Amino acid sequence: MIFRENTELALRLKELIHKFTEDLKARYGKIAIRIMNFCGTHEWTTTHYGLRTLMPRDVELVAGPGCPVCITPAYYIDVAIKLALDGVKVYTYGDTYRLPTVRPKGAIRSLADAKAAGADVTLVYSFLEAARDASKHSKDSVFVGIGFETIAPAYAELIMQRKVPENLKFLNIIRLTPPAAVYSINVVKNEVLEGKLLIGVIAPGHVSTITGAKAWSVLADEYKMPTVISGFEPIDVLMSITEILRQFRKGEAKIVIQYKRAVTWDGNVKAQKLMNTVFSTVDAAWRGIGYIPKSGYRLRDNYYDKYDALNYFGIPDLTPETWKYDLPPGCRCADVILGKAKPTDCKLFMKKCRPDSPWGPCMVSLEGSCSIWARCGVISEEVLQDLEFTS
Ligand code: SF4
Repeated sequence: MIFRENTELALRLKELIHKFTEDLKARYGKIAIRIMNFCGTHEWTTTHYGLRTLMPRDVELVAGPGCPVCITPAYYIDVAIKLALDGVKVYTYGDTYRLPTVRPKGAIRSLADAKAAGADVTLVYSFLEAARDASKHSKDSVFVGIGFETIAPAYAELIMQRKVPENLKFLNIIRLTPPAAVYSINVVKNEVLEGKLLIGVIAPGHVSTITGAKAWSVLADEYKMPTVISGFEPIDVLMSITEILRQFRKGEAKIVIQYKRAVTWDGNVKAQKLMNTVFSTVDAAWRGIGYIPKSGYRLRDNYYDKYDALNYFGIPDLTPETWKYDLPPGCRCADVILGKAKPTDCKLFMKKCRPDSPWGPCMVSLEGSCSIWARCGVISEEVLQDLEFTS
């Protein structure tokens, strides 16, 4: 794609990023800036293309909680494992399949382990694929429904169109991203004490095709945070960083759509109506973090809740009272997804926790920060020094 190969534009953007940072330093003296990307795909672009190496030392790009696998509470993995071991057929995406819990049943830490122990666990690419397969048999079945606003309309449509067979239930773990961004900002802004100021957010382009840019306006209006809804090419991300620095330098805080080729202010109104018909908004748990207000969905009562797996199997849902800290010992995923730590800050990174044997949830999915850093070969300063690559 020409956009990806436009090195001239990339170099121009790099120059602007450095110039804006120098201007800020001239104005404020020593300055250390953080820009948070919210989405795992942006973290992939940033790391895979080495964008951090183009930044001034004073600009740090940090990841946010935008990986649905990473933030799926362990409780729901426990539920899926229990149902699978009890003889229910479980449909799941490939990454959720390997997601480890913190309360293993013997040697079983994941749905992959349950399948190895003989449970009926089937990998699918979509809820539709699960529905089609489940309609060919009568066995009680469950689909593990993780994801953000990008996938929620597809779930809603299938349920609304009554294309889900009676024997297939939906384990609802949908999460909503703008409330989590607000939560992250509230947490990280206190880190100013460490001398790093969060000055802007790179918001997810794909989520925003559904929600519209308007969903992020709270960040600019209430938190005075320059926010750019970005595409996923390296040039997109560089343009977004440049715009955030430009706004900060000018004392502005606006929502800007950089990903104009896909995102509008209002988003996909039809998809929003679908979601609002089938789901209502509720407070919801995020793994390692706990409850975030208005950050999840539940199936609406009276009709749609007949698809609810927890209702059907008589399993209580999580509540703020029953949620327990759900990261394995030593795992720093909560800090990683809140932009408070880098994957290499975790002592288990590429030791006990590796892509082929994940200990924590951020090492599982291609969108998890730890997995991205591991797959792209990022190593810690400590290891670099051991290797004597530094002068
Ligand atoms: Fe958790 Fe593994 Fe990442 Fe450490 S390296 S924070 S254990 S996922």
